[in-house]
Amino acid sequence: MITETVKKCIVCGAQSFREHFECKDHFVSGEKFKLAICETCGFCFTNPRPPIDQISPYYESDAYVSHSKTSSGITNRLFHLSRKYTISYKKRILEKYTSGNTLLDYGCGTGDFLNAMDRAGWDCSGIEPNEGARKQASQNKSLAITDEAGLSDIPDGSLGAISLWHVLEHIYPISERLSSFHEKLSPDGTLFVALPNMNSYDARRYGSYWAAFDVPRHIYHFTPDSINTIMKEHGFDMIASRPMLLDAFYISMLSEKYKSGRSKIIQAVFTGLSSNIQASVKGRNYSSLIYIFKKSK
Ligand SMILES: [Zn+2]
Repeated sequence: MITETVKKCIVCGAQSFREHFECKDHFVSGEKFKLAICETCGFCFTNPRPPIDQISPYYESDAYVSHSKTSSGITNRLFHLSRKYTISYKKRILEKYTSGNTLLDYGCGTGDFLNAMDRAGWDCSGIEPNEGARKQASQNKSLAITDEAGLSDIPDGSLGAISLWHVLEHIYPISERLSSFHEKLSPDGTLFVALPNMNSYDARRYGSYWAAFDVPRHIYHFTPDSINTIMKEHGFDMIASRPMLLDAFYISMLSEKYKSGRSKIIQAVFTGLSSNIQASVKGRNYSSLIYIFKKSK
């Protein structure tokens, strides 16, 4: 395995880290990756990590495809049901916080969310690095789907909304991309970022088995504070956040499976419920959140 070591914290720039714990790639390779914590700001990231030109094999898995394509197994059945609900939930949030109807979904996958927004009358474009997913998304001809190079072709200040649904934690050149998103958004544009939260109850309960560490595909492991800090540095203010309640159950189900090798549904439902209740009582540490940002004035 070829790896590279990150020398500088992307949130605060400090260069002194301590080791957190080691996580296994349960999804594809079975390899183990260490997590580091910045001694200065507490930000957690995968370190060492595969270099960017070595990461694509870690996305090549039948299991990854089956997430979106098959409907066998209770986890997948629940995934399909929850996906339908989640798309309409995201749509409602976008409609509430966006002026105008131009949307870029960055990391749009097979285009399920964009198709829903297209049907609702939005002017939709998508960027997707995976060729297979991109081809499938392109089957809807009213969507403008490109690879990452297409970002530079979008006129500056032209977008009302940019969405990244569980995507930012995968992006190597994160600083460069956040600057581009700032340029492409209109002055009143809105950026929507969905991320897992490693300060959630389920993350703490499952530790290194927490499925949303998803190493080495997730290279950053954000919390509400660390995403707020890095976005501020790139000229964005967080104006709201919304919980993704179903993620607590889905992630708990996967985590139980990674931990015991079995689908412990009742235990997972109990943990998901506990996570959501704790977060609603004690503040915003939900398993996953959608953060909503406007350009700083
Ligand atoms: Zn730091």
